[in-house]
Amino acid sequence: MSSPYVRAAAFCACLALARPLPAAPISAGTAPPAPATPAPATPASVTPQAAGQIAGRLKARLSYDPLTGYGVFEKSGNRLAFARGVPWAIFDWNRSLPLDPPSDAEGGLSFTAASGAAIEKAFAEAEAVARSHFSVAAILIDPGHGGKDPGAIGEQAAGGKKLRVVEKDVTLDISRKLFDLLKARFPDKRILITREGDSYPSLEDRVDMANSVELAANEAIIYVSIHANSSFNKNAKGFEVWYLNPEYRRTLVDAKKPGGPGQEIAPILNAMLEEEFTTESIILARDIMSGLQSEIGAESPNRGIRADEWFVVRNARMPSVLIEAGFVTNPDEGKLLARDDYLLRVADGVYTGLVDFVGYFESMRGAPSQ
Ligand SMILES: [Zn+2]
Repeated sequence: MSSPYVRAAAFCACLALARPLPAAPISAGTAPPAPATPAPATPASVTPQAAGQIAGRLKARLSYDPLTGYGVFEKSGNRLAFARGVPWAIFDWNRSLPLDPPSDAEGGLSFTAASGAAIEKAFAEAEAVARSHFSVAAILIDPGHGGKDPGAIGEQAAGGKKLRVVEKDVTLDISRKLFDLLKARFPDKRILITREGDSYPSLEDRVDMANSVELAANEAIIYVSIHANSSFNKNAKGFEVWYLNPEYRRTLVDAKKPGGPGQEIAPILNAMLEEEFTTESIILARDIMSGLQSEIGAESPNRGIRADEWFVVRNARMPSVLIEAGFVTNPDEGKLLARDDYLLRVADGVYTGLVDFVGYFESMRGAPSQ
């Protein structure tokens, strides 16, 4: 597996767009000379500090794009995203941190000393949490459809007989196999499933189940929804993995809240947040996609990673993906999806991707600083 740091950066457009700044030298020899008579009216807390110096002290990577005014400090998987002129930053996906607005008016990007101290404190606190072991505490498997809702149905001719392949059965079979594999691999994690038989939990029931799992501050849950596809075009075949843009998080930064960031800036902060949230789901989708590719890629075309606004995943507050295991309506794939050994390989592929992601997530989020 490649370095988790590189993988995260590759999918974060914010970082990809931003231009990395070298950390400013902090040795006394290269620092600008102190003014002979410092203005006595300026309190030390508002003295500007070069952003590069803050990054140097933190041993953090700093990216800043002077065109858009967006920037990110990143260290050991923790991120602080800020924007020029904005009086707060977003720390680690979910927490806003009040700051004196950063400026790049003269001599490069700078923060006040008080803001520099607040940034360093935020990273120090995050590291303390990370040292207490950040983990994936639960994995919730959601077999699509069930009961009165059969999902997609394919009818294939097989040996002079009609073979009926029903999505709700395919999804349950894959999900139970995945459940057993994950239980055996992660005895200390909560492995959950939204239905164990031919029942019909509503979409709201499934989302509620996901959101009601109790987690400590340093624990996360992964949500995996399993489906099968159908098409009027009988030739359509292949598997897909979807990740979802978590729309609900738009309300996290509320423009109208008293003391909030104001109409102009709120959308910028929300865009930053959304990007951070989506990154984990994209990495999860890629891991599962490559797991499936190695298990069933020889028989089923890889249709790639997709993004949309599916209800179930959109409302689940966690890294979330939806897998379309294949087309029940395709004559070849429909027959494969009726075979126990094939469904086991699908489950194996998803399992491999999840194990990869958990390894990445726990090492990235729980690693002590390098
Ligand atoms: Zn479905």
